[in-house]
Amino acid sequence: MELSSRQLALKERAAAFSNGLLRKRGAEIDQSREYPFDVVEALKAERFMGMTIPKEYGGQGQSFLDTVLVIEEMARACTVSARIVVEANMGAISTVMAYGTDAQRRRAADLVLAGDKPAICITEPEAGSDASGMKTRADKRGNRYVLNGSKHWITGAGVSRLHLIFARVFDESGEELGVGGFLAVRGEAEGLRIGKRETTMGLCGMPEGELVFEDLEITPDMVLLPPSGFKRGFADLINAYNSQRVGAGTVAMGIAAGALEHAIEWVKTREQFGRPIGEFQGLQWMLADMQTQLTASRLMLHAAAASRGPGGSAFPDPTLAAQAKIFASEAAIKIVNDALQMFGARGYSRDFPLERMARDVRMFTIGGGTAQVLRTLVASKVLGWKLPQTRH
Ligand code: FAD
Repeated sequence: MELSSRQLALKERAAAFSNGLLRKRGAEIDQSREYPFDVVEALKAERFMGMTIPKEYGGQGQSFLDTVLVIEEMARACTVSARIVVEANMGAISTVMAYGTDAQRRRAADLVLAGDKPAICITEPEAGSDASGMKTRADKRGNRYVLNGSKHWITGAGVSRLHLIFARVFDESGEELGVGGFLAVRGEAEGLRIGKRETTMGLCGMPEGELVFEDLEITPDMVLLPPSGFKRGFADLINAYNSQRVGAGTVAMGIAAGALEHAIEWVKTREQFGRPIGEFQGLQWMLADMQTQLTASRLMLHAAAASRGPGGSAFPDPTLAAQAKIFASEAAIKIVNDALQMFGARGYSRDFPLERMARDVRMFTIGGGTAQVLRTLVASKVLGWKLPQTRH
């Protein structure tokens, strides 16, 4: 896909940012396990937060493809920063921009432009791949909803301010109406408690944690009503998640691009048997395969980012997004591992970035819909069948 001169300039600006601050901060963030508020300030100054927010709300009205170009550059050096850019432009914020009222959009835009990375809260201990089996409930009481339940593995738990919470909705008679999205701002919403933080393998500066809702009261202005109401609310809200999927796939691809860059430099300088190791065909063919997989991933992600789902959806096509995420996340794990291999023992050392990249890249076949569940989505499209996964 050919990029415009504006897009090439944007990519260059993101690369300069990444090669400067992020090359230095990537390893530090990993070791400290602390959320990088300093990087957020720098991202804000460069206007990489809220790029996709429409201009009337203070953003730049840029596309998902524009965002993808920036994310790749960030992920080459620092995965945590790249994930902040994903969530400050896709996921919850793009859902609010597509489905929210004017006041909700304004509120969400103000938070993100001030540096917030919103959290999207779907997964529960008993409802992972089977997200529609969620137990968190929103009971209508007068003109309000009262939320009870819990979520886990929520990216940004304890640092995010804006939360988009998925819950089953019940009316006052106890009848179930479907699934709704509820907005809550940490620090303002009573009944939103941050629980345990997970000790993760990678992405160490990004908290992944539990949220507990204890009679969390949601006023009518904070109910995000999906376009076809609560009845088909889950489908609408999950549809909005396709932007996040493309973003997540791009982070994986960006890590792989960074790893390949390190590997190319290394094989030209490291000598064994009296010659640079890049002269050995065993490694040359590995590099060729790595580059091929990377190029294919990038093309698929760009196509998905630029696509629109059925019915003029504001979000990427679900099948293209799923295919791109499956391919890019699996290819990235292989590319990063092969890059680490080329570094020999040094690849296994914390003094070099490859072991951090190998830990960081592993999550992208899990978070945002596992590679298996996304394959079912693609198979359903290929066969033209609905493929319910329950026994009955
Ligand atoms: P399970 O659903 O228990 O799956 C276990 C295994 O079974 C997987 O391999 C899966 O592919 C397979 N499996 C399950 N069902 C099927 C099937 N029908 N066919 C074939 N295979 C199947 N969630 C949020 O809501 N918000 C977040 O911000 C968020 N961030 C995350 C960040 C990270 C780093 C990670 C690791 C996860 C995050 N998640 C988040 C949760 C993520 O979406 C879930 O982990 C994911 O949906 C899988 O659910 P699970 O972990 O319960 O696995």
